[in-house]
This record gives sequence, C-alpha cells and structure tokens, in this order.
Amino acid sequence: MAYILEDREKQISTAGINERTIDCNKASLAGSVSQRACVFCGSRVVLYPIVDALHLIHGPIGCAAYTWDIRGSLSSGPELHRLSFSTDLQERDVIFGGENKLYDSLTELIDKHQPKAAFVYTTCIVGVIGDDVERICRQVEKEKNIPVIPVQAPGFQGSKKDGYKVACESIFKLVGTKNKLTPAKSINILGDFNLAGELWILLEYYKKMGVHVNATITGDGRVDDICNAHNAALNVVQCSGSMSYLAKLMQDEYGIPSMRVSYFGIEDMSDALYDVARFFKDDDMMEKARQLVKDEFARLMPQLAWYKERLLGKKAAIYVGGAFKAISLVKALRLIGVQTVIVGSQTGTTEDYELIKRLCDEGTIIVDDSNPVELSHFVKEKKADIFIGGVKERPIAHKIGLGFCDHNHERKEPLAGYEGMINFAKEIYATAMSPVWQFTRTK
Ligand code: SF4
Repeated sequence: MAYILEDREKQISTAGINERTIDCNKASLAGSVSQRACVFCGSRVVLYPIVDALHLIHGPIGCAAYTWDIRGSLSSGPELHRLSFSTDLQERDVIFGGENKLYDSLTELIDKHQPKAAFVYTTCIVGVIGDDVERICRQVEKEKNIPVIPVQAPGFQGSKKDGYKVACESIFKLVGTKNKLTPAKSINILGDFNLAGELWILLEYYKKMGVHVNATITGDGRVDDICNAHNAALNVVQCSGSMSYLAKLMQDEYGIPSMRVSYFGIEDMSDALYDVARFFKDDDMMEKARQLVKDEFARLMPQLAWYKERLLGKKAAIYVGGAFKAISLVKALRLIGVQTVIVGSQTGTTEDYELIKRLCDEGTIIVDDSNPVELSHFVKEKKADIFIGGVKERPIAHKIGLGFCDHNHERKEPLAGYEGMINFAKEIYATAMSPVWQFTRTK
C-alpha cells in the first residue's frame, strides 16, 4: 500500500484481519496533509456559538474567513456571534505591533454592540510578533466592565484539539462568576453547538423528563448562564473531544460530575436520556424518559424500516472530527441497513478506537488522523457508496464521484435526536440512491 506513509501505518487498523492498537493522540505527521484544522479554528468552533459575546480575531483578515456561515450555530435571541470581526493586521502592524489597533477595535466594538463578554483570539502572526494581548484585554475589561477574555490560539501551536483546550480554559474563566437560583435537578449541556437547531430538540426532551437545563455550552449559549454553570448538578458532555477538558476543570474546582453521551442515532439518544434519569435516581423522571423513548420508537421504526429495505447492502465511509460521533454513526447506519466499511476520526482516543473495533464488521478500515490520499484509496478499495464527513471531506467524495452526507458544522438539517435520525435516513437515502452517481463514478 504505497499510498500509506510508513510512519502512519500504526494509525490504521483493519477490524478482525490486521488488528492493532491504533497509535493515536499525537501530532500529525509532517507531509501527511492532515484533515485537522489549526488551534485557532478549534477554539473558534467551540466559542463561536456564545451568541451574546463579541468575537474579535486579532490577526490578518484571512483567519476571519472562518465565519458563522461556515458553522451554522443558531440563536434563539441575540445574533452578535454571526458578525465576524477582525483587526485585519497589515504589514505595518506586523512590523510595529498591533496592540493599538487591537485596543481601538475592541473598545469601538464594545461601545457599538454592548456585548455581555468579549473573546479576543490570537492567531499565528500575533504569536510571532508577540503583541501583549493579555494586557490589552485586562485594560479593556477594567474600562468597559465586562469580561474580556484572551483566547491564546496561534494556529501553529498545535492542532484543532489544542484549540478545544484553549477554548475550555477561556470558558472556565467565566464559570463561577455569577450565582442564580438553580433547581437541584439541573444539568449543563456541554458540546452541543445548536447546528440547525439541534439543541432545541434536546431541550424539549429534557423538559418532558422534568430536567432543568442550566447552561448550554456553547450552542445558543449565553454569557450569564455560563457564569452560573457551576450551580448545575451534572455536566452532560457530547462531542467529548472538545468539552471533556471543561468538564474536568469543573469537576476539579466545583465537584460537578460529568457523563459522556451522544445524541446521534436512536440507541445512543435513548441511552443519553436514561443515563441522566439514572444519575438523579428519580423514578418519575425515568418513567417519563421511558415513555418518551417508547413514543418515539413507535413513530420512527416504521419509517426507518422503509429506508432499511431500500438501503440494504449499501456501504458507507465515515471520517469525522470526534470518534464518539463515529461510533453513533456506525450504529445509526446499521439500523437503516448500511454497512460501515471505513471509519476514522481526527481526534479519537485509544479507548474510542477499541470500541469501534468491537463494533465494526470484519474488514472495516479504522483510521486515525487520515489524509485525502489515504481516504480516496480506502473509499475506492472498499467500494463505498456514500461518504459521511465534514467540509474538508466533501471534495474528496465528489472528486471520486461519490455521494456525500455532511455531518459536520455546515449542516442545515438537524441530525441529532429522534427527528435527526429520520433526517439522517432521508439524507443517506437521497444521496446514496441518486442516479447521478452512475455517471460520475471513477474507476
Ligand atoms: S493557521 Fe494561523 S494563519 Fe491560518 S487560520 Fe490558523 S491562525 Fe490563521
């Protein structure tokens, strides 16, 4: 397999055939053209959905191209997060420093938009020229009397995963700074970013169960709720790659336990609800969860059976950011008759990959931190019918002439929860069965 770089071989395994413990959680190999994004991007995707905060990117305008339109996190109120602000550093600023420009931009934007807090992202060039962003933030915080938080995220410092950590540290600066009366049976939702309104579906489920949601971090997030997040009884963490660290910080400082869940696929969605009811040891809550699941199953199963009948025998390739989502996707695809033949992630852990190995059929390729060359070859070798991934995998699929399902930031249809499962089945069906692929598929 000439297309696999020698030093990457230990990051690839084949279920039941050439199984090995995947060598993951490490820096991308130079020259491998990793699908991972930069530190700044990682911090931005996590913090961006805080809708009543100002997000100012201190750097050249190119970094600011990563805007709301790339990640469609919806808001039920303020929409300040949709505006992308940049200090637009130029050659002159790089030579003489950009601190004055940062101070002017920050104060002007705060005066104009009256945000509840401001996040100031440092980018590669700021990491190189060494502007004292912390000092400017401290100064403006004092003058404007709102939290102004430096997000130290020069892109070259690591990968997207390091950006998640920086974002968690930034959020943690807000936690515990305000107190509101909070019901005893309350949770914080960590790691749902309200893409296409997914969070609102989950809120409805928890409401039906009698669970109070204290803070949503960060989908449709509010600064005041995050400040009060330390008063919740439990942190429920989805997208654990991005938010486990915040849950750990809150456990260490405030003793709040956490649990890892997934809202994708009906099996994992149901487990998420049951696990919360189990945590509170509340029979009434458990009964309500059971009823909710029963009703949803009765509604969904006939529809899913229709898709399964038609999709049986189709093969899917999955390459997503977090491995926990990949696990849910394998189960969800199986439910509609689709076999997963490739499954990979950018940031999976050994534990995640072991679980994937046990879950997948013999011959499934499991890969960590892959690249376009590998993915293209795997997809052709396994004769996948559909590719499920994010914005960077879309061109890979289309170049090969393969149907693509966006399961990342840009999606416009909710794919979480029970409603999401139906949308997912519809999308897989519409894409995999489209007659267009017979004309585009390359050999
Ligand atoms: S790698 Fe550096 S220059 Fe590129 S987007 Fe990230 S922070 Fe900006």
